Amino acid sequence: MMTPLAIITGGAQGIGLATVELLLKEGWRVAAMDRDPEAVAELDAAHPDAPLLAMAVDVSDELQVEEAFQHINHWQAENGRATGFDLLVNNAGLAEPECGPIERLSLEDWRLWQESHLTAAFLCTRAAVPGLRERHGAIVNIASTRALQSEPHCESYAAAKGGLLSMTHALAVSLGPEIRVNAICPGWIETGPWQKSANRQSPRHRDIDRSQHPVGRVGEPADVAATVAFLASDKAGFITGQHISVDGGMTRRMIYAE
Ligand code: NAD
Repeated sequence: MMTPLAIITGGAQGIGLATVELLLKEGWRVAAMDRDPEAVAELDAAHPDAPLLAMAVDVSDELQVEEAFQHINHWQAENGRATGFDLLVNNAGLAEPECGPIERLSLEDWRLWQESHLTAAFLCTRAAVPGLRERHGAIVNIASTRALQSEPHCESYAAAKGGLLSMTHALAVSLGPEIRVNAICPGWIETGPWQKSANRQSPRHRDIDRSQHPVGRVGEPADVAATVAFLASDKAGFITGQHISVDGGMTRRMIYAE
């Protein structure tokens, strides 16, 4: 059987890194793109013998994305692999949700969120579709529960993530039956231990942080990675155009002021 190939953006830290590691463990070949060269070098060094291509790429940059996809095709060919891709995970993006009050939000800052989440997903999807079509692959977009509900001053992030959800169902309708497209809405996912060594942090959560989640804990990158692996698998063959919240039940909790 052909070894499947996954392309993961923002794959050198956080949720993307956990997804890279899970898919490698499950026998995938993985091409990871991340704009942080230090984190990319650490990812590469941590997996010397793995079928991993770790690339320093800003996925909101059209030219860099085109070059990265050429690089993936060469890597596959050099290793005697067939053309085509099995999975694209659009995960990269500015993970900070707060952009400050709308009256003071500059156009430049507004664009930072739109470009790192939405434009990047468009550019990578456009580049990946021919290869995904060849192998009847899947796309998983990492959105957020903030596409569905809000704290104050998160307009740019919420709009970008809401856009990703809409793009998910639009793509599912356009690209089926060959390609399935789904989204994940992570809730609070603790990524401190999954940062590059200079920024790594041990989690410190209060009881209230845990207990406000119906499952009784804060999320981990592995929770999202496992959902990516499921949505990429044949077990999810009848699921497309959907989004699934991986949030320990937080968005299902009704909140009234005491
Ligand atoms: P993270 O900061 O730990 O990792 C994000 C990675 O993406 C970093 O390595 C960063 O260098 C890379 N990146 C950012 N912009 C990029 C670009 N333009 N090109 C290439 N690489 C880029 O963040 P995370 O928490 O793992 O977040 C991953 C995704 O999950 C993001 O889309 C984020 O919005 C989403 N998300 C996270 C949470 C959470 O609680 N952690 C919740 C909901 C959604």
